[in-house]
Amino acid sequence: MINLAIPNLEGKEREYLNKCIDTTFVSSVGEYVNRFEDQVAKVTGSRYAVATSSGTTGLHAALTAVGVKRDDLVIIPSFTFIATANAIAHCGAMPWLMDIREEDWCLDPEIVEAEIRYTCVLKDGALIHREMGKRVAALMPVYTIGNLPDMKRFRRIADMYGIPLVADAACAIGAKWQGEDFGSFADLSVLSFNGNKTVTCGGGGAVIGNDENLLKLVKHLTTTARVSKEYDFDMVGFNYRMTNLQAAVGCAQLERLDTFLSRKRFVRSYYESTFSDFGVSSFPATDMASCWFSGVILPEGKGEEDVRDICKKLADAGVEARAFWKPVHLQKPYQSARISAMRNTEAVWNRIITLPCSTGITEEELKIVCDMVRIILKEHL
Ligand SMILES: *Cc1c(COP(=O)(O)O)cnc(C)c1O
Repeated sequence: MINLAIPNLEGKEREYLNKCIDTTFVSSVGEYVNRFEDQVAKVTGSRYAVATSSGTTGLHAALTAVGVKRDDLVIIPSFTFIATANAIAHCGAMPWLMDIREEDWCLDPEIVEAEIRYTCVLKDGALIHREMGKRVAALMPVYTIGNLPDMKRFRRIADMYGIPLVADAACAIGAKWQGEDFGSFADLSVLSFNGNKTVTCGGGGAVIGNDENLLKLVKHLTTTARVSKEYDFDMVGFNYRMTNLQAAVGCAQLERLDTFLSRKRFVRSYYESTFSDFGVSSFPATDMASCWFSGVILPEGKGEEDVRDICKKLADAGVEARAFWKPVHLQKPYQSARISAMRNTEAVWNRIITLPCSTGITEEELKIVCDMVRIILKEHL
């Protein structure tokens, strides 16, 4: 079987893990956690990084730190992994779901701007949705499959209305915008180091940013909000720490980030050039995207059934392929969420097939995948 996205553990992962065990530093204190935070800050171009137990817990801590509270609204694209919405719900808030752009699959700034202008008012410094009577507490674009939207534009919108800008950068490690790392684009950005991401800790996440006080607050929140060696706490904190074991794996992984990124980009361009000859589109990529996932988009008129059939046939042929994110507005827990314009989201989400894109995939395997996809698509379309 040629797998979809499996970890590449051929570096110093084992050596560093053994060091944790030999020194008994297996829990949340240890040199690897500090080293990992320093390295994450460095590779993302941010001043500070706080390691967390997952991307989801990082998102929850980040939203809590910027002040998202019960009954608030947070603007996100509907086309994202459910964790983006769940982190908002964990704050007692609700997502306000908006559409994406076709060219990058990221939140559409035109829609965000128009929706805020026509449905919200500024009242005592707070941005209020008039009809719902709820406060819009944050704007959170998602760097879908490692594509970066125009964050300068989102920055202007956020500043104009005085709302914090948080980025779900869970799958974007290594992506750049006009040559610049994304670490300073939002007030806080959140990464994931889950097993299927470009860089993995087994599981894990990080919150990054440049504002020292804000990152101190994130650290405080994620480590139980303890204020003394005695059992004194000053807030309702979380235990969202990353362990030294996870960080050990992460440190070894980050040493090979450049190799992983060039491999991911190679896989995407391999699929793009193969399938464009065949008249089938592959995933969009912004300039210097991190190309976390790659695959094909079935022609218009095709849908969920076709994706399921094709994936089944590919599995029978030894190629793991899958559908991609089902939008949040179609998920059971978010039926009552506010939605604004879903044309592009609805036009594309059910025609996407993700194909094998592990960093360890060989050119021989890529050729097998492409041959099989071509044969099966020809029968199917
Ligand atoms: C992977 C991912 C997450 C969740 O990260 P976990 O580490 O699995 O909790 C959130 N948002 C996006 C866009 C992701 O791709």
